Amino acid sequence: MTASNHELFERAQTHIPGGVNSPVRAFGSVGGDPVFVKRAEGARFFDENDQSYIDYVGSWGPMILGHAHPDVIEAVRDAAKSGLSFGAPTVSETRMADLLCELVPSMDMVRLTSSGTEATMSAIRLARGFTGRDRIVKFQGNYHGHSDSLLVEAGSGALTHGVPSSPGVPKAFADLTTTVEYNNLEQVREVFAEVGDEVAAIIVEPVVGNMNCIPPEPGFLEGLRHVCDEYGAVLIFDEVMTGFRVSLGGAQEHYGIKPDLTTMGKVIGGGMPVGAFGGRREIMEMISPMGPVYHAGTLSGNPMAMAAGVKTLELISVPGFFDVLTRRTQALCDGLSAAAKAHGIPMITQNVGGMFGLFFTDKDRVANFNDATACDKEAFKAFFHGMLDEGVYFAPSSFEAGFVSMAHGEAEIDATISAAERVLARMAG
Ligand code: PLP
Repeated sequence: MTASNHELFERAQTHIPGGVNSPVRAFGSVGGDPVFVKRAEGARFFDENDQSYIDYVGSWGPMILGHAHPDVIEAVRDAAKSGLSFGAPTVSETRMADLLCELVPSMDMVRLTSSGTEATMSAIRLARGFTGRDRIVKFQGNYHGHSDSLLVEAGSGALTHGVPSSPGVPKAFADLTTTVEYNNLEQVREVFAEVGDEVAAIIVEPVVGNMNCIPPEPGFLEGLRHVCDEYGAVLIFDEVMTGFRVSLGGAQEHYGIKPDLTTMGKVIGGGMPVGAFGGRREIMEMISPMGPVYHAGTLSGNPMAMAAGVKTLELISVPGFFDVLTRRTQALCDGLSAAAKAHGIPMITQNVGGMFGLFFTDKDRVANFNDATACDKEAFKAFFHGMLDEGVYFAPSSFEAGFVSMAHGEAEIDATISAAERVLARMAG
């Protein structure tokens, strides 16, 4: 027998801090040992001992077609045969840029990066360069990657200066980031009344996926658009998670609001490291070499990443793809909610397109960071481990959204709901 997940995790910690290359993988908030994945196919992955799990993390969003989709794998294989990286233009980058600008309503031009973090970091620099202003407004509980300007959370009130979320983020950077409660337009207006002429950009997850799954309240995104127009600030939709996930044209298409800039990642790389930022031509023309705002990357637009991304975008562009994905996600959420209700466990679900969240709360809706953090973490832990033992892998944190892929058919969804019924019955009992 291969080593257990426990042994593998211990071994990993010798030379990797915490044994992982991204913190939430370590199961810190649910306890226990992370699952070491050997391979994946469709809706499932398998650990080093060939234990199978129905996967609702999907590499944190990218695997919208399911794992190891044969056409995507073939596209990457073909690209690899021609060389891994050139550091010179390729037609595959043009194809990717054309597709993104065709499919995303507000995108006139786009630049490719190697991660979502690079995309948001570059979009912020661009907004600052374009407006000549330094201040950024973001929302509590929204995550935009780990660059210094964005790794900031709120102080106690909307108008307090930002407090760094991590040692190493200079206070001077955090001071330029004002954090406001999500879904609270009133607070946004108060901030702008005070410092609106200093604000370069509002950056927002149009559906939040980083404090579980929290959709915008009606009027919230429209309100942000109006405030930005009034004060000459750039509106950035961070669609790294929602892009090609909540609908083909992202949250901006779903809610009918056009941001000035959009950041992308995850799905557009089909599982390879890719990000992108793009938007209004007049702003994008400020990027070097056209304009003075610097952005670069040795591996930006990498040919294998383009091959995986372009093939993924082509496959999800077929008519009806997002209707089916949304119906499957809804069926999963309805089944989970009904199971919780049947066992008297206070749990609700929230979902948009192919993303969803489970909240152990007796509220009927979760709208912001305070609501999300007030949920019952112990109940989530018990549910998470119960499901893991049943062979169903949800995100190992109550603050992360879940993802359904096109490979999650009726069989996987029914099996998940049946497992949840058993787990919730044990929790109730
Ligand atoms: N923005 C959002 C909304 C995200 O969810 C993430 C990652 O989860 C990022 C940015 C950062 O992307 P990456 O992890 O590719 O750097």
